[in-house]
Amino acid sequence: MPYNYDDENIFAKILRGEIPNKTVVETEHTLAFEDIQPQAPTHVLVIPKGRYVCFDHFYGEASDAEILDFHRVAAQICGDLGVAPGGGGAGYRTITNAGQDGVQEVPHYHLHILAGRPLGRMLPPVS
Ligand code: AMP
Repeated sequence: MPYNYDDENIFAKILRGEIPNKTVVETEHTLAFEDIQPQAPTHVLVIPKGRYVCFDHFYGEASDAEILDFHRVAAQICGDLGVAPGGGGAGYRTITNAGQDGVQEVPHYHLHILAGRPLGRMLPPVS
């Protein structure tokens, strides 16, 4: 699938160090930082350092090392935050938005990790 990556998107600027961020974890391939407008007491964004627009772009074109690192970082954060159910935590939600219907605001692939309060049902049912 063809994607044109916009190097002026805000996460690209964060990765270049042009805009500050509150880093949670940084590895060779992945950066995680606090969302600037949190929608839950914990709201962390996990992004690959590579130039990927959205979910299918990343998983279609990224290397195995990038994909593995991304998921290890996201899982590690859930554990470190104490919200992983397996560790007795109260749970969390991961979300990724893509494109127009997904209401993706920043065109650099990112995973939201939300936790710290009951998050409600995912979406209202189609009636
Ligand atoms: P999405 O709608 O899935 O593209 O989500 C984009 C997210 O990026 C939103 O939750 C914003 O609050 C967040 N965001 C935008 N700019 C920044 C920034 N400079 N630092 C941290 N988070 C940001």
